[in-house]
Amino acid sequence: MDICNNLKISTVFDYNIMAVKESNRKITIGTKEWADSNVNCYLGCSNDCRYCYAKKMAIRFKRKTAKNWRIMVPNQKNIDKGYSKRKGRIMFPTSHDITDASLNNCIIVLKKLIRSKNEVLITTKPRFNCVLEICRIFQQYKRYIQFRFTITSINNKILGFWEPSAPSFEERFDSLKYAYKQGYKTSISVEPFLDKDPFILIDILRPYITESIWIGKMNYIGHNIAPDIEKKYYTFIREINSKDNLLKIVKKAESYNDLIRIKDSIFNSLENYQ
Ligand code: SF4
Repeated sequence: MDICNNLKISTVFDYNIMAVKESNRKITIGTKEWADSNVNCYLGCSNDCRYCYAKKMAIRFKRKTAKNWRIMVPNQKNIDKGYSKRKGRIMFPTSHDITDASLNNCIIVLKKLIRSKNEVLITTKPRFNCVLEICRIFQQYKRYIQFRFTITSINNKILGFWEPSAPSFEERFDSLKYAYKQGYKTSISVEPFLDKDPFILIDILRPYITESIWIGKMNYIGHNIAPDIEKKYYTFIREINSKDNLLKIVKKAESYNDLIRIKDSIFNSLENYQ
């Protein structure tokens, strides 16, 4: 049976989730999937986010261990090879980040992608030095680039727990402002949102965004094996992923017109709550 026909109107807000989901989809035609293909040039990611799905998969398929995920190993084949023009937009990178250590190789790959006139969505938890260098090098090619900066909280304590080696909020915000002022297309991923009210963060970032803001929830929260001192973070995430809070977010996003896109991770959870 078609799940859409089976959904009830939410009693919390008298609010039809599927209607919003469908209108969200209409708004995001062509960008819903973010990109048509991905490119990566490292295995592992030094940010070592606790919710990382790429890490989970790498461990499952024995490409990495929980301990050495944070050690980024260059994928020389992907660095050395050529890249022709692909159909649609390319997301780079998706399973590692652009860090001081990986910057040079990432620029080699980016140059090849852009020389072939590919449209590239650069997804990163931005380090200011890296953004500065990318902006400098690709100044003449900015029409091929859109930055999508992942900024998930304004609270550095929360960031430090979930994304232990990723940049602070201030560094990510400075990177966004810089790229925007340099005339690049900018967008934000607030996925997973880590504050109860992600709109406090969004309102701060909004003046520097030329494209879109995406909100998603944490899918892979992990096990309850954390020491007592860490349990409050897991409890908090489960609280902010409650049906009531997700509904509040979906409803509030509507007042931002087309700027905010709700990820399927939120809609899928709300469907499961029905
Ligand atoms: S930045 Fe992305 S790839 Fe890197 S550890 Fe975090 S979630 Fe995983």
